[in-house]
Amino acid sequence: MQEGGGGEKSIRHVLVVGGGTAGWLTACHLARALKTNTPDGVKVTLVESANIPTIGVGEGTVPAIRASLEHLGIRETDFVRDCDVTFKQSIKFVDWLHAPDAGQSHAYHHVFDYPDRRTLDPIPYWLMGQAANASFAGAVSVQEYLCEANLGPKVMTHTEYDGAVNYAYHLDAARFAAFLTRHATEKLGVVHKLTNVTDVKLSGDGDISAVVTDSEGTLEADLFVDCTGFASLLIEKAMGVGFIPKDDVLFVDHALAAQVPYMSDSEPIPCHTLATAREAGWIWDIGLSARRGTGYVYSSRHTDHDRAEEVLRNYLRASVGDMADKVDCRRIPMRIGYREKYWVKNCVAIGLSQGFVEPLEATGILIYDATARMLAEQFPAHRRAMDRLAKRFNARVRNAWDRVIDFIKLHYCLSQRDDSAFWRDNRDEASIPRSLLENLAVWRDQPPSSYDFASRLDVFNLDNYLYVLYGMGFETNMAPLISRYQEAAASQEYFSRMRSHAEHLASGLLSHRELIARIKQYGLQRV
Ligand code: FAD
Repeated sequence: MQEGGGGEKSIRHVLVVGGGTAGWLTACHLARALKTNTPDGVKVTLVESANIPTIGVGEGTVPAIRASLEHLGIRETDFVRDCDVTFKQSIKFVDWLHAPDAGQSHAYHHVFDYPDRRTLDPIPYWLMGQAANASFAGAVSVQEYLCEANLGPKVMTHTEYDGAVNYAYHLDAARFAAFLTRHATEKLGVVHKLTNVTDVKLSGDGDISAVVTDSEGTLEADLFVDCTGFASLLIEKAMGVGFIPKDDVLFVDHALAAQVPYMSDSEPIPCHTLATAREAGWIWDIGLSARRGTGYVYSSRHTDHDRAEEVLRNYLRASVGDMADKVDCRRIPMRIGYREKYWVKNCVAIGLSQGFVEPLEATGILIYDATARMLAEQFPAHRRAMDRLAKRFNARVRNAWDRVIDFIKLHYCLSQRDDSAFWRDNRDEASIPRSLLENLAVWRDQPPSSYDFASRLDVFNLDNYLYVLYGMGFETNMAPLISRYQEAAASQEYFSRMRSHAEHLASGLLSHRELIARIKQYGLQRV
């Protein structure tokens, strides 16, 4: 295999271009792993434009973010106080199975706690009707109950990052980037430059040698990370790496984002993201501590922008009345798909420049954070090591995106909505990845198993699939399997214990709003 042009040259300086969530997470991971704040550490510089704004959305996360923040040395109390944070225990999907009929809605939760299988695997028994009328998430987890009661996932005696149940966060994207900026520069030794990159210089062997800026001159480095968002300044414009669109699988390509106030200081804050299906996409609704973040993500091939705005405003009217007509709606075009490669020569793409799919399961920050940490923890010491590492990195990141796309598509192709071409087109087999079709065929004859998720890099695993499949009424034919499951009495006991456990837990938890207020006032105990 051909070695990189720089051979034995040590990698001593990384330049991250772009200061959105992806850029700052990347800079933090690199600086933490490479001991940037010590005399022998690798230098990390982050360059961002003062006048090109960040995307400004990205408010939902998944539980993996907790381990990351803790790993980076961030205190949960500071994070909650500074980033308008609330807790997230689930995504509640409303009207995904059927269009609402005579005011009747269907809803299910994709919760973060996994079913307890220590004494018994409850899944086949739920499928065989042993949990009476309980929903799937309601039968195998306590979290649907806690979410519906607007309760927080922890109490004040839990230490930072610990909880009674699994959780992630909702956050204000702009505040989060500013928070990470302070952490990276004050604690981890990252150098920050506010300037516009106007050109990218390549050396004879095709590596990036420097970026040219409008106020800081030419900045050289050994490795460059493209975190310039959809602009993709380095990976696309300088390195010419192509983009593989995936809008033939996932149709939504625009978002209309709106921030709305709470109508009173005592309005409950949901401890889950609400994702409500509409005629050409779905609406996210996230409760932060000081405001709500909402938006309609839709397919411009199935609706027009004016109608999309009407749909969002109609949705908002139910909660904020006439104010729905006054809130500012910002339209964001979205490029759905991923790069042909994410690491070429000495250039790595992390963030929207790497790839993006609709934010249905909050996969953006998850993948950018995971790939930033992978780069940091497998960081090349020399130029000659780069091409081999890049090959592996590219294969893993591609796999992660493909698995995410399967999982997102699952939500659509199980829908029975027939009210618009958007939903019918989503069930067209030609739009469903073969890997997903094969899994669904297997799961019609037996419940999903951990063997179906062999790669440890799958970001969504068995339990995530179970919550969506059975929340959406997917049918597995259990009749030929009944003889394998003979612990009906034990399963009924399991389901009734789960219910009592939920009620008991709930009695000791604070309302979500109250929990946030107390954390802001008193702080959590350090780990
Ligand atoms: P950006 O935020 O766009 O930052 C780009 C940076 O590059 C900026 O600092 C800019 O100044 C800089 N830059 C650009 N050009 C230049 C230049 N010439 N010179 C110098 N600097 C330059 N993710 C989730 O995990 N959960 C969600 O709920 C979620 N919701 C989303 C909703 C929508 C509608 C969209 C579109 C995305 C959502 N995402 C979500 C993804 C989320 O936005 C991204 O994870 C995150 O914000 C990362 O963006 P970024 O840092 O790659 O790019």
